[in-house]
Amino acid sequence: MMRKILFALLATFLTVTGVATAASADPGPVTAQDVQAADGCYTWNRTLSEGASGEDVRQLQIRVSGYPGYGAVLALDGAFGPATRSAVVRFQQAYGLAADGVAGPATFSKIYSLQDDDCTPIHFTYAELNRCNSDWSGGMVSASTAKANARVTMWKLEALRHALGDRPLVVNSGFRSVACNNAAGGSSTSRHMYGDAADLGAGSQGFCTIAKQARNHGFTEILGPGYPDHNDHVHVALRSNRFWSAPNCGI
Ligand SMILES: [Zn+2]
Repeated sequence: MMRKILFALLATFLTVTGVATAASADPGPVTAQDVQAADGCYTWNRTLSEGASGEDVRQLQIRVSGYPGYGAVLALDGAFGPATRSAVVRFQQAYGLAADGVAGPATFSKIYSLQDDDCTPIHFTYAELNRCNSDWSGGMVSASTAKANARVTMWKLEALRHALGDRPLVVNSGFRSVACNNAAGGSSTSRHMYGDAADLGAGSQGFCTIAKQARNHGFTEILGPGYPDHNDHVHVALRSNRFWSAPNCGI
């Protein structure tokens, strides 16, 4: 976001002063297209559709990982297949874009508007997903994996938040080192130690509304009201086999 703003300011400055290039490293005049494409986190350089593969596809998959469909999980494998196409369609529908399943300028522009320069979605932060320590160490996976898992989780939460009317969704606990998990009384197999879990606190949406909707956004572990110790939050996470339990919500 910040880099986009700087580009916009630079473009304004160039227009006002009539200076074509401000720095020798600048490849040329800043155009409206450049301003729109610039992003401090990641910039896509081509339109992506079914059959495409590569790191740019994987980056897209992370951003649409919250749109896999009911009970599903989108593979972040860098291969644009039917499941990725369906996720892109759902993302486009969610934001009122032409839903053609092709990720082009309009889709990327929407993604840029939803992400911060550190690649987290605008309504969630690494700090919010890690109240345990500052370096993501001490969990059941490497620090870099834990942090990457948290980023994917945040994109799923962004999708969940949007589906529930864009009202605040508070994360009370995200990544935990083994020590933090023990201190919190977490289970010895808790996904919090992998970085892909989030405990969602009270909000205007209501716990059951959150738990039910979370089934559509890539969470294979959902624990809520009626499950032991989960009457005051909804736990969402990723695990290999689906386990959903919120008996008081009919789940
Ligand atoms: Zn939890």
